[in-house]
Amino acid sequence: MTATNGKQRLDWILSPEPAPDLHGPGAGLVVGVLALQGDFREHRTLLERLGVSTFEVRRPEDLAGLDGLVIPGGESTTIHKLMTAYDLCEPIKAFANGGGVVYGTCAGLITVARETVEGKPRTLGLMDIVARRNAFGRQVRSFEAELTVEGAGPRPVKAVFIRAPWIESAGPRVDVLATHDGHIVAAREDGVLVTAFHPELTDDTRLHELFIHMIRRRQAAAVEAEIASADCDAGTPGRAAAAAGHR
Ligand code: GLN
Repeated sequence: MTATNGKQRLDWILSPEPAPDLHGPGAGLVVGVLALQGDFREHRTLLERLGVSTFEVRRPEDLAGLDGLVIPGGESTTIHKLMTAYDLCEPIKAFANGGGVVYGTCAGLITVARETVEGKPRTLGLMDIVARRNAFGRQVRSFEAELTVEGAGPRPVKAVFIRAPWIESAGPRVDVLATHDGHIVAAREDGVLVTAFHPELTDDTRLHELFIHMIRRRQAAAVEAEIASADCDAGTPGRAAAAAGHR
């Protein structure tokens, strides 16, 4: 090992946190990545390139103050077991129901589904979809495909599938964003985005940009709702004063 290599390694050990790009589209946002198992580091790296500050989530209190949460690819049975062991299932549901935006890739898609065709593992039920695990068959466990994804622009996305699920069925409120061989592989419902493939394993940031866009839209809607209710509050004394003036 050269001295320079040694220094680089030391730098890496001392400062493992990637620095977000302050001018990226995600600047100012804080997103948690569920870091129990799977490829959570790849999600962090990609999000930080977009300016998002990221945080590894392992305990319920780690969810406080987050704008969004990524549930990475990996092994959904293991993720479920660890989520249960760390008492994270209910807090993640509360986070999503309280306005937090969630993005699940591959095993993450399975984790957020209403249920799986196989009946296991237990899922969080954040999206009205039924996931079929390892759906593309044992022989074709991993492959790449060029997919047009709604919301990701006209250029196809290079989609990496690794023992991927597909969405067997989806409720009426679910927007299908992409299909492969007639099967749904990307979808969105309210504040939940899922892909059966792994954008975090490519250089293509567009799915994560879509996730950021969903967070910004939700936040803008929340601010508008707040302004609307503040108007109402402010309106009461105004009306009272007007009424008093007529007396
Ligand atoms: N087959 C895995 C599961 O069922 C998912 C694979 C992945 O996330 N790449 O959990």
